[in-house]
Amino acid sequence: MCIFLPCYDSRVTARVLDGTKIRDEIFAELKSEISHLAIAACEQLGLASWMHTPPPSITTEQMLRLVRDLNNDNAVDGILIQLPLPKQVDTKRVLEAVEPAKDVDGFHPVSLGHLVSGRPGLVACTPAGCMEILRRNDIGIEGANAVVLGRSDIVGKPMALLLIHANATVTICHSKTRDLADVVRRADIVVAAMGKPGYVQAQWIRPGATVIDVGTNKVTDPKEAEALLRNFPARLEKFREKGAVLVGDVHPDAVNTAGALTPVPGGVGPMTITMLMSNTVKAARLRRGKAKTDTVQSSVGAR
Ligand code: NAP
Repeated sequence: MCIFLPCYDSRVTARVLDGTKIRDEIFAELKSEISHLAIAACEQLGLASWMHTPPPSITTEQMLRLVRDLNNDNAVDGILIQLPLPKQVDTKRVLEAVEPAKDVDGFHPVSLGHLVSGRPGLVACTPAGCMEILRRNDIGIEGANAVVLGRSDIVGKPMALLLIHANATVTICHSKTRDLADVVRRADIVVAAMGKPGYVQAQWIRPGATVIDVGTNKVTDPKEAEALLRNFPARLEKFREKGAVLVGDVHPDAVNTAGALTPVPGGVGPMTITMLMSNTVKAARLRRGKAKTDTVQSSVGAR
């Protein structure tokens, strides 16, 4: 287990929401569920997986054929299309060709429809992981003012829907939002998914608020790293050694204003793959019921 506190070598006030620890908890739970499904053990969790890596010249029709074969393969419980696909491939058509019952990414319109209407189904992994972090750290969601920064189909929109279903009052912000700082200041829970390193300033965060930082940005510019990590000499030293550092969308100084926050790395990141595993087990359960003979298996599409 990794403890990330030592990375923050300035005064730390926020509770660190450690995604790696939650990943370990969920993996332990999934192992138990997989054993109940009497599944053959393979890899860390007992999930068998295959990577299909077609040539970069693959056409949309060939990709669709591959997806159809996996849809029809009863041994496959989950299909993940690794994005981005080559430019000539119609990504939307390929994503929509995945059998909804095997859509462990949660990107299919049927999965999104289930999410909108609050029906059980397969939910996009990153927002589902953010919700697990909130729940497993007992962060109050009901009645909270939640601000989601970003409205992408894979993070911002599903995140907002999950928070609404958990009875938060949700504001969704995007690049045309006015007075972003003021909106963020009103939030009890801030979910930042913009792809802008350190954009959300520490002083925008209401003291005691919870910050879920989805942003994963590689910073290589020394001036930018200096500005972001000026209060974190150990991390700055690491940057100087490696020439790159991963930072979130929230300025690292927010650790001194937030009540709780996810570190980057080590917060939301580990939860995305965890929820993919969780979705695969869920897909197997929903498709097979409690059948005791088959193996839970997942399949990864083209890169
Ligand atoms: P995206 O598709 O590029 O969407 C970014 C969103 O941020 C857009 O809705 C955009 O608004 C909004 N935005 C951009 N600048 C803004 C500004 N100045 N003020 C307010 N909103 C602004 O990105 P994404 O795929 O959602 O990913 C977001 C971040 O999360 C990235 O850093 C990505 O690497 C990270 N991520 C991490 C994980 C993980 O596992 N940890 C998983 C997925 C994504 P418009 O709609 O108006 O353009």
